[in-house]
Amino acid sequence: MFKHTKIGATIGPSCADPLVLEKMVKAGMNFARLNFAHGTHESNGKLLNTVRAVEEKTGEPLAILQDLQGPRIRLGAMPAEGVAIKEGDTVTLNTALTTYAGGDWPVDYPELHRFVKPGERVLIDDGRVELSVTAVTGSQITGSVAQGGVVTSHKGINLPDSVLEIPALSEKDRADLRFGVKSEVDMVGLSFVSSAKDILDVRFLIQQYLKEEGLTRAQPIFIIAKIERRVAVENLTEILDAADGIMVARGDLGLELPAAQVPLVQKRIIDAANALAKPVIVATQMLNSMQTSRRPTRAEVSDVANAVIDHADALLLTNETASGEFPVLAVETMADIIVTTERSSYDDTDLPAHHKGVSLDLAIADMSRLLADELSAKLILAASISGETGRLISHVRPSLPILVATSTPASWRQLNLSWGVKPFMMLQCQSIEELVERSIDYIKHHKIARKGDKMIIVAGEPVGQAGNVNLVEVREIS
Ligand code: PEP
Repeated sequence: MFKHTKIGATIGPSCADPLVLEKMVKAGMNFARLNFAHGTHESNGKLLNTVRAVEEKTGEPLAILQDLQGPRIRLGAMPAEGVAIKEGDTVTLNTALTTYAGGDWPVDYPELHRFVKPGERVLIDDGRVELSVTAVTGSQITGSVAQGGVVTSHKGINLPDSVLEIPALSEKDRADLRFGVKSEVDMVGLSFVSSAKDILDVRFLIQQYLKEEGLTRAQPIFIIAKIERRVAVENLTEILDAADGIMVARGDLGLELPAAQVPLVQKRIIDAANALAKPVIVATQMLNSMQTSRRPTRAEVSDVANAVIDHADALLLTNETASGEFPVLAVETMADIIVTTERSSYDDTDLPAHHKGVSLDLAIADMSRLLADELSAKLILAASISGETGRLISHVRPSLPILVATSTPASWRQLNLSWGVKPFMMLQCQSIEELVERSIDYIKHHKIARKGDKMIIVAGEPVGQAGNVNLVEVREIS
């Protein structure tokens, strides 16, 4: 059964063994996320090489998403045993300190006190501990404990009520980005995005690093904007316009917004991305309990199914595959839920309503779905250099596989993020006849369709020019 919704897996110690990773790919994993909040360039470089080796072995495209940590604010060094606090206690955070010395708590962002006001909340360690700010004096932020616990070193801090003016890239992010550019990652995930400017800045930096390193690319690195702040939800339209794809980063979003709003915001972000034919990924805690359990909870199964029904392009496994006990089973379980859900009518969509006078490409994408439905075709075949045509056909959500031939390795990998698209590599063709003939070999070899089945071709004449879609044709597989 063809799986339309894609699966991303975060790579970490649990799947660093190429044999494990290979099994994950066979189970339905479509792209790899490397979380640069963890590890060194050396350790992440090793993981990157493993992903490339597994791609080579399996022949399946595995885009590498370099997820930059972004301006995550953390506590400094706390005592090894942690510090226990209870409701009603008073705690002072001090942005001038790096280490706890029996009084104020250290914070690793020296400017934080400038953005915090009395009455605002400070959430520590994924919201397990909560302070209500009572005073800000110089570098000290004092708060009353609303929710206590034991707090240890370097725990993350979220400030859902504060307006933070922090650059989207820290010095560490810049060094990591340069490493990613040199390592030829396919996509960069930008954490804590606030506005379109954050994306444009990173695009500029990527160009600068390419130039400085003497590198060129046939296809640009995709920038995936992680939506995890209230301000990013407010600026969603401009962020989507500037980015190549988007992630609903529910871990932080669930702290920055009231939790009850997250499922609705997820739907809103997915709808907005679908409308612009930009890939959208839903992330975090999808099968969280599978870190230590062979069975997901019923609620997790529902969460995965509902993200499919919301029409996400891809779902992302995080700790389940990076550090969990059952990385392969987590992918298998997710694939099973996806396929089962996609088989139902709840996942079906009407052809999107486009205004008259839209682009020729979009009109052709619409036409390919209409023809495929009317003629009960077995697949749509497109040729695409940048991948844009593949994404446009994905956007009209035909219920059959969208095979996209491309001669650009980065496009091949990036396309594997898009719903329903099966990308494959093919050397540049000189004519439609050549494209069809060579694709038929691929289709038969992979048993996607048989002699006599119909397929819809979407391409451009002359073949091999980007942005040149002008042809839709029905062919029978010979
Ligand atoms: C998230 O917050 O859901 C997320 C994916 O971001 P990170 O885990 O990198 O903080």
